[in-house]
Formats: sequence, structure tokens, C-alpha cells
Amino acid sequence: MVGAVLTQNTAWTNVEKAIVNLKQAKALSPEAIMMAHPKRLATWLRPSGYFNIKARRLKAMCRWVVQQGGVRRLAKRATPELRHALLGVHGIGPETADDILLYAFRRPVFVIDAYTRRIFARLGLITGDEPYETLRSLFENGLGSSAPLFNEYHALIVIHGKEVCRKRPLCGNCPLTDECPSAVSYKAAED
Ligand code: SF4
Repeated sequence: MVGAVLTQNTAWTNVEKAIVNLKQAKALSPEAIMMAHPKRLATWLRPSGYFNIKARRLKAMCRWVVQQGGVRRLAKRATPELRHALLGVHGIGPETADDILLYAFRRPVFVIDAYTRRIFARLGLITGDEPYETLRSLFENGLGSSAPLFNEYHALIVIHGKEVCRKRPLCGNCPLTDECPSAVSYKAAED
């Protein structure tokens, strides 16, 4: 859950550094984060960027977790109810809520991120600017309801977006070149 908040607008490698700081300070628990001085917490979170904002968001999430009786209690809630509650917490939008639902609570909820929009728009399957919920339904209805599948699928999208279908895509290294309508134009641009 901490990772889902810290990964907003930054690479996971930076999040890992901030989590190591929290672990070393023995502050990787809702209670410790709630009790931490805001400036101290921000210092631990510095590697993840936007550290003052993220310190506030992390505190808000941890306060909420404690108020709700802890993670085990939250885990007993039905997915729609839990999602609705998460979206009411300061700093948690649909992508962060779904990250938490999928990776922390293992619920079959598909995460839509910028990589998903970019790759599938280039593949000609979406326009890329559809509302979040439209895309989430599209994937969930198309793939069936499986948390392990969604987990792996989203992770593969992230890797593909980072390593191959980058802002400036490496279409020559892409296994989807034959099916991708954008590949030709990028190839032409490169030539
Ligand atoms: S062929 Fe190029 S544009 Fe298409 S998905 Fe692959 S990397 Fe992205």
C-alpha cells in the first residue's frame, strides 16, 4: 500500500530507496507513519520525489487504515465497497486505489496507467484518452476475473512500456511489430 502511494509520478527504483529508508527507521507500519514527524517522514521519502505531498498522502492513508481497524479488517470487505472507501482517502485516485486492490488485497481489478494507454493506443485498440473506468471495464470484461492474470498482465505492460514501447519506441525489438499499425510510421520516422 505504501508502494502504491510512493510510485505516483516516479520509477519503482526510487520507491524502493524510500521504502528501505522507512525500514531502516523501523517506520514501515501504519502507526509509525502516523506518529512520525512530517518533516522526518518527508526526509525518508525524499528518493521517491514530491516527498512533502507524499508524506501527507501516506499519513492520510495510514490514519484511514488504523481508523478502519487495520489491514486484516479491510481485507474482509467486498471489492466494490473497499474500492469506494479507498477513493475517499486523501491522495488516492483510481490508479492508486486499483494498485492497492490488486497488489495488496489480491482483488481482480485491472490497473490502468499511462503505459497501458500508450501501448494500446499505438496498437490501435483504444484512442488512449478514454475515461479511466471505460478502460478498466474493457480489460476486466475482456480478460475475465483473475487477480493473478491481472497482476502479471499489468506488470508485463509496465515492462513493455519501459523497455520497448517507450516515448520513442524501439519497434525493431518489439514482438508486436507485425500487428501494430503504429510500427510502420515509427519505422518511417527512424529511416
Ligand atoms: S511496434 Fe512499436 S509502437 Fe507498436 S507496440 Fe511495439 S514498440 Fe510500441
